[in-house]
Order: sequence, then structure tokens, then C-alpha cells
Amino acid sequence: MNTFHDLLSAITDPSGREILDPATGEVVGSFHESTPAELDDAVTAVRAAQPAWAGLGHAKRSEYLHRAADAVEANAEALAELLSREQGKPVKNGPNAAFEVGGCAAWLRASADFPLEPEVLVDDETGYAELQYVPLGVVGAIGPWNWPMMITVWQLAASLRMGNTVVVKPSEYTPLSVLGLAHVLNQVLPADVLRVVPGGGEVGRALSEHRGVDKLMFTGSTATGQAIMRSAADGLTRLTLELGGNDAGVVLPDVDPRAVAEDLFWGAFINTGQTCAALKRLYVHEDVHDAVCDALVEVARQMPMGNGREEQNVLGPLQNRQQYDIVAGLVEDAKNGGGRVLIGGDPQEDQPGYFYPTTLVADLPNDNPLVTQEQFGPALPIVKYADVEDAIAMANGLDVGLGASVWSSDAESAMAVAQRLEAGTVWINKHGGVDPRIPFGGIKKSGFGLEFGVEGLKSVAASKVISR
Ligand code: NAD
Repeated sequence: MNTFHDLLSAITDPSGREILDPATGEVVGSFHESTPAELDDAVTAVRAAQPAWAGLGHAKRSEYLHRAADAVEANAEALAELLSREQGKPVKNGPNAAFEVGGCAAWLRASADFPLEPEVLVDDETGYAELQYVPLGVVGAIGPWNWPMMITVWQLAASLRMGNTVVVKPSEYTPLSVLGLAHVLNQVLPADVLRVVPGGGEVGRALSEHRGVDKLMFTGSTATGQAIMRSAADGLTRLTLELGGNDAGVVLPDVDPRAVAEDLFWGAFINTGQTCAALKRLYVHEDVHDAVCDALVEVARQMPMGNGREEQNVLGPLQNRQQYDIVAGLVEDAKNGGGRVLIGGDPQEDQPGYFYPTTLVADLPNDNPLVTQEQFGPALPIVKYADVEDAIAMANGLDVGLGASVWSSDAESAMAVAQRLEAGTVWINKHGGVDPRIPFGGIKKSGFGLEFGVEGLKSVAASKVISR
């Protein structure tokens, strides 16, 4: 078992690039940025290790994944502290650092246990054909800074289970979390099955252009996803792209505002709004609009924001200055566009840390930038509607489609609206919850390819038909 300080000293490079705690501005640690030669080395090493890893077969690889989950659980406290200091999310309360580390173990175990048998397609007098799923080779995994450990596990657990080896390129904002996680995993995995190449966008680009990589799993913004697709073209490298979203929630007139308020709140403000499939624009029917706004304000008042190592806090800072400026700019646009700030919207610039207060803005027209652009932070726009047809049209009116939700006390009305919302996942009376058994992925410019479940295993495999 590693303490937080053991973990940090194992991964930190004193002469490397410093990482600052987004809550305090203090130095957390520093990391070494991979050179092109080190990236080549990593790809060569995992490629050399891949045949033996694939040769172990599913049962042995699954055992390794369970051991990896045990290692994560044994080091959970140290990992959660590292994650909190680097990413900003509170250690314990709410769906935060301890929850994310727990999710890593849960996804490793679930990915270990999905059955994946060959599918018999034809077996009659005309012949026999079966469809198998075989390893692709080397997977390059490029990730963001919002859920750095969990998203890395989403990418690597399925890949390893399928017999691939993996090179991870973490976000330059949160490399220590991924290095710490990989350090723990590599204490139980065979050598060179998993390597990490920390660095910025140029290391990501080099990995996505690398001909030694067979498949890229990318989670991040739509613009970077488009760049990666271009880089991958020459090598015909396979892609799974989990990109940005701007998820709509449609609240129907029959809801009980107080009963849904807390779930609406967490749907929008989980991880201080820095979540791909968070609720990012809320459409509320005029009959319940004011009551929903009041109930949301009441919940928001009870959710303390602050340094994640202080026990009472459930919301943390934004992870970086760039994201803080995006959120602050969009709230200014909302104020200038006629928005009525119900709570928040008044950041205190003289304090350390990238804290932007929990903000709810009503009375916004649907074309305001806080509605049309992804805020990725703690500011939720609320748009009033009178006709559900208009709400559906507004919800579907953007070119992204990661998640969406509908809120109603009538199952049939909810299902009728859910059928018409354009998104990879539509939740009813909740928003953003993911489950390792349920495939997840976007449509439109939110990307393509599925993660999780058996579909997630197939996404990191080559299909192969044997026919006689
Ligand atoms: P980003 O696109 O800026 O960066 C993501 C990663 O790509 C980083 O590791 C970065 O170094 C790397 N990168 C940058 N330029 C590159 C290039 N040219 N080639 C290869 N790699 C490159 O995204 P971010 O700001 O870290 O994350 C926030 C975004 O991610 C939001 O839009 C959010 O919605 C999205 N996101 C999506 C999901 C999902 O599952 N769909 C999950 C989390 C976040």
C-alpha cells in the first residue's frame, strides 16, 4: 500500500513541469514530458509485450484486471488525495475523488467479467460461419482533465481485457493522477502492458500519428477529436471518439419541482459542472418554471464549495484558468443577453483558486451563448417553454448529441419525449449516471463508438469471421 507521499515521490520529476493545486495555487508535484524518442520507446515496448499478453487468454487477463482493481482499492486513499489536489474535486463528500477511485475499481472488475463468446452466424446444411473478436494490437488512449483516472480506466480496462496493450497520453493538466494510477496498476500488471507518455497536445498528436498504434481511444473536445481523426487518416488507425456535449434536460409540466430538484442539481453540477454528459441547458415548462427555479436555488444554497481537503465541501474549483475564463465569459454573455441571475454569477477575484460560484440563470433566449456553447462549469441556463414541441426542437437544435434527459411523473409522456431526443443516451428523471454494463457514446459531433459493456469490448477488438 502506498501513502500519498510514496505515490507522489514515485511519479514526480523535480526537474519537470510543475502542477499547481487549482484550489490554492500551491505546487502539487511536477512531471516529465515525454520526448518523441520516449514516445517511440513506449509504443515499441507495449507492441513487444502484446503477443504474450494476448496469448494469456481471457481468463488469465481477467484475473489480472481483478488484481488491478484490488490494488486500486488498497491504494484508494492515496489516489483520492492525489486526484483531489491535482484536479480540485473534494476528497470525500459527494460524487468526487473517492467516488472516482471507486469507479476505477468497479470498471476494472466489470470489464474483467463480461462474457465474450464467438457468435455462430450460420450452422446448417449450407455451411458454418462464426464471428470472433480478436485483439487489435496497441491502443493509444488520450484523455481529458475532468475525470482523469476514471476515463483512463474506461479506455484501458476494455483494451487490456481484449488482449491489447496500451499507451496512455494523459491531459497536461492532470498527468500526476494518471501517473499515480498507472504506478498502482503496474505493481500488478506484467511489464510493458501499460505505459504512460505525459505531455501536451504535441505528444497527443505524435501518438495519434504513430504507425505503431492500431486504435485510438480519445476523450476530449470536439475540435481535438477532429484533429485526431485527420492524424489517424494515413494509418487508417481505428477510432473511438468521446467528444464534447451540451446536454439538454426537458422538464414536463407534471413534475413535482421539490422532488426532482436535487437530482437536477447533481445532473448539472457534478464535478462542479466539469463533466461531459452533465446537464448543460434546462428547458422548463411555464407551469412549473418558477417553482423549479426556486427549488433549484434552495438546493444550490446547501452545497458548499471550497478546498476539497476540507470535509464539508461538495463542490471544488474549476481545474484551470482557461476553463474559469470560459465560464465567467459565458455568464457575462448571459447577463448582457437579458438573463436573470437566480444565484451566483459574482466570482470573488481576490481569492486564491479558480472558484466560480454555483450559478443559475433564468429568462434566457435559446440563442444566448450560455445555452448554445458548452460551459463545462458551474453555470446552468434555464429556458422557459410553453409547448413541448418547441422544447424538443430546442433540445435537438445543436450539432452535438452526447446525453439528454426528460423529467416527468408520467412514464408514458417521458418515454414519448425520450424517443424524440437526439442523443447517445437519454435518461428519464436522472441525468449523467453511467454504468459499466450499459454502453455509452455520442452521436452528431459528440463522437462515435461505444464504451462499456460487451459493446465496449467489441470496440477495441478486430472482428474476424471463420467460415467453412
Ligand atoms: P481537449 O480536447 O482540450 O484535450 C483532451 C486531450 O487531447 C488532452 O490530453 C490534450 O493534450 C490532447 N490533445 C490536444 N491536442 C491534440 C492533438 N492535436 N492531437 C492529439 N491529442 C491532442 O479536451 P479537455 O479540455 O481536456 O476536455 C474537455 C472536453 O472533453 C469537453 O468538451 C468535454 O465535453 C469533453 N469530454 C467528453 C467526454 C465523453 O465521454 N464524451 C468525457 C469527458 C470530457
